[in-house]
Formats: sequence, C-alpha cells, structure tokens
Amino acid sequence: MEAQLMKQESPLATIINGKAIAKDLESKIALSAEKLITENNITPCLGVIMVEGNPASEIYVRHKRKKAESLGIKSIIQLYPADVSLDVIQEKITSWNNDDSIHGILLQLPLPEKQDAYPLIQTISPSKDVDGLHSLNIGMLSWQKEPKLVACTPSGCLVLMESVIDDFTGLHAVIVGSSNLVGRPLAQLLLQKNCTISIAHSKTKDLGALTSQADILIVATGRAGLIKADMVKAGAVVIDVGINRLDDGRIVGDVCRDEVMNIAGAITPVPGGVGPMTIACLMRNTIYAACMQNDLLISSVIE
Ligand code: NDP
Repeated sequence: MEAQLMKQESPLATIINGKAIAKDLESKIALSAEKLITENNITPCLGVIMVEGNPASEIYVRHKRKKAESLGIKSIIQLYPADVSLDVIQEKITSWNNDDSIHGILLQLPLPEKQDAYPLIQTISPSKDVDGLHSLNIGMLSWQKEPKLVACTPSGCLVLMESVIDDFTGLHAVIVGSSNLVGRPLAQLLLQKNCTISIAHSKTKDLGALTSQADILIVATGRAGLIKADMVKAGAVVIDVGINRLDDGRIVGDVCRDEVMNIAGAITPVPGGVGPMTIACLMRNTIYAACMQNDLLISSVIE
C-alpha cells in the first residue's frame, strides 16, 4: 500500500477522475433502472424537496434531475418559496412516505436562514432516506450494521479512494470538516476499513501538523485554498470535497491543487472529482431504496 501511494516516475500526483468513475457506476445504475422497469414494473422515482433562495442548491437540484432522467430514474421536484413553513414541508414528506410510487426522498440542504433540518429529516421514512441522514441510518452505520442507506458524498469519496488504494488497513485518514453530511459518516466508513481516523474542524489547533501526518487526507470545509502543499504528506491520497465559487466565477476546492499536485500521490480535481460521485451515489441509493421497498434482493438488480 505504501508503495502504491508513493510517487513513482511522475513527479505529479495521479488525478482521480471522478467523472469517469461516476460514469462507470452510472452505466450500472441505468441497467438496473431498466431492469426494475421491464422485469418488475417498478419505475424508480426520486422526490426532491427544495426551498427557493439558494442559487447553489438550485444548480445542484437541476443536475440531480438531469442525471436521474438520463439514467431512467423518474424525478419529482417540489419547490417551495423561501418563507414556507416547516409544517408544509412536513406534510409533503408524510404524503411521499405513504406514496409507493416514490422510492427516495431528498430534502435539499441547507434550509433558508440556517433553519435546523434535523426534525424534518427524522420524519423521512428511513427506507426512503436517500441522503442517509436519518438517525436510524446514521446509527446503524455507527453500529457497523448494514444501514439501509449511507450518505452520498462519503460513499462517493470511498469509491474514489478505492480506485487508488487496495488495502486501507492501518492507514491514517485525516478528515478536515466534521459535518453530519460529510465528515462524520465518512469517519465511520473509513473506520470500517480499519483506518486510524482523525477529525479536524475549525477549532483544531495546528491543522497543518495533523494533516501532514495523513496517508489519506479528506477536506470538506468550504474554505477555498485551506490546504497548502506544506500541510500534505508526500504520497498522500487527497480527496477534495469542497466547492467554492471565486469572485471571477471559477469553481475551486479547499485544496491548493496546483501546489499539492507536486507532493500528493493522488488527488481529486474540483470540479470533476467528488461532485459527480455524490450524484451517482444518490442515484444508486434511489435504486437501493426501490429494491428494499419492493422486497427485491439488491444484488439481483444492481452489481
Ligand atoms: P459545513 O459547513 O456543514 O461543515 C464545514 C466543516 O468544516 C465544519 O466541521 C467546520 O468546523 C470545518 N471548518 C471550517 N473552517 C475550517 C478551518 N479553517 N479549518 C478546519 N476546519 C474548518 O459544510 P459541509 O460539510 O456541508 O460542506 C463542506 C464543503 O463541501 C462545502 O464546500 C460544500 O459545498 C462541499 N460539499 C461538496 C459536495 C460534493 O458533492 N462535492 C457535497 C457536500 C458538500 P466547525 O464544525 O468547527 O464549524
């Protein structure tokens, strides 16, 4: 494994091509959607609830809808104005929980004015919780039980890491960012792969001293350029989850890619790294959810 992370002939890090890896997964998802439709008369369907007012969320939801359609998954987008009451959203979730034609329910986050999404997420049926954020799914992940559904970004990050790491045993994974959406579930997934985990956040002292010990460094902070070359161990696998729009319109991650390229063993680009995998994993979760709700063996539908 060390050998795999060491840089060999090339002085630059291997680019982990999230777009291409996502494409492979998507072709399996498209086949499974077709199988569900033709053999089981089930059209997999994703319901997305979005409250208006966050331009980035609007773009993400558009991408999700487009991707679902291209893979044969139906999508329904329920839009609400920014001043919608949480009771109205709650009613929609309840009605979709009881609707057998909707297999996945996603509440696009964040809610306006940083309202707490926790109570709403708890009302999504765990078997329809395609974002993997319901306490039952999070709890099962912590218990090392097979959760019904695992959060999409951490699942996607793991697939990207598996493309360059054969054996995770004993590797030190440092996760910068401790959110419920990314850092925490990812820590559980990597613990299950027998990594040693450190989680950093905004109060961590001497971040660089910690990150420079990482065999695997995952950064999910939303702080453009936070990770510089002198904070990275030679040969490390670097997964950049951050999405930041600069004033000039460019989208960049949390890692200074140009300089870190000279020291890391492998790195994900932004855009084209974690983003496409997150959407692919959401689609895969929708297929999983459709299988579970119809008592179909997942492995008989998707590889
Ligand atoms: P949150 O704001 O929920 O969490 C950010 C985390 O980063 C917090 O734990 C915070 O610490 C930590 N943090 C902030 N500043 C620093 C710092 N200077 N040093 C160390 N830690 C810091 O964000 P999300 O987890 O939702 O998202 C993180 C980033 O990932 C965003 O850019 C988001 O757009 C992107 N993202 C990308 C996805 C994709 O598909 N590519 C999917 C999901 C998110 P503290 O807890 O102390 O505040």
